[in-house]
Amino acid sequence: MPVYKVLIFTKISELQEFLAQIRANKKSIGFVPTMGALHPGHISLINTSKIVCNVTICSIFVNPTQFNDKNDLERYPKTPQIDIDLLKNAGCDAVFMPSAEEMYPVKDETLFDFGYLDKILEGKHRPGHFNGVAIVVSKFFNIVKPDQAFFGGKDYQQVMIIKALTKKLDLNIKIVVCPTLREKDGLAMSSRNTLLNAKEREVAKIIPKLMNQVLPLKEKGMQIEEIKAHIVSELNKRGNYELDYFAICDTETLKELNSFSEAKHHIALIACYVGKIRLIDNLLLS
Ligand code: AMP
Repeated sequence: MPVYKVLIFTKISELQEFLAQIRANKKSIGFVPTMGALHPGHISLINTSKIVCNVTICSIFVNPTQFNDKNDLERYPKTPQIDIDLLKNAGCDAVFMPSAEEMYPVKDETLFDFGYLDKILEGKHRPGHFNGVAIVVSKFFNIVKPDQAFFGGKDYQQVMIIKALTKKLDLNIKIVVCPTLREKDGLAMSSRNTLLNAKEREVAKIIPKLMNQVLPLKEKGMQIEEIKAHIVSELNKRGNYELDYFAICDTETLKELNSFSEAKHHIALIACYVGKIRLIDNLLLS
């Protein structure tokens, strides 16, 4: 397998010097923001960027402002050397790995308001999370000024927030949404999966299994309340789970639905703890 070179930047000024040369050569810039502990899901975003942009930049930064739970931040997996090797193999051109001080020389107290969108689902269960995401992504967008930025559909609500953010800030950046990559048993790939012990990993596979039941149940004519009750009762049978939410929403607005007739297109979204690890997933239903 060919191993390419990846340029590593830790300072904003040095990254911007490099980016200025790229722009002077009229090359397009693709940007993939991540929190590291990279897996094939992340690499699929890099691959997509490489197809449509001349130069691909990945950032690795475990952003403290988006963690509402200190323990979650402390135990978040960090594998910088492995990440660099994966990025080299993927042919990523540059990686930006700033320190917290580089990103936040002074405390950033910006408050974003995305209305309804940041108060439901993830926003409701992780207060302040999307404000932290919006702060760091707006800083990254301002530093990198990419032509296109690549995000995973696994974080569906996050994608909607990012799209709202680019609109709010009048940024001329195309947001590209990439499909969720899954393990063989269907579990959505996530850096947090490495924190599951063998027993938890075994039980986690019930998440995609249940999500895959939603569409057939809908097609059988089951109503949303009944589907929800089914999911909750299946989870309760297993134990070692704590459901944060299971919701069926309008794909356009993310408004939670009581009936399928309330929207044209539907998405099922779930967040639950397996042991101490919080996992999320979603599935488009139509
Ligand atoms: P994270 O490092 O978890 O913040 O994720 C960085 C980016 O990778 C986000 O846009 C995620 O939505 C995306 N991502 C995470 N997991 C997957 C996956 N399994 N498939 C595709 N994209 C993913």
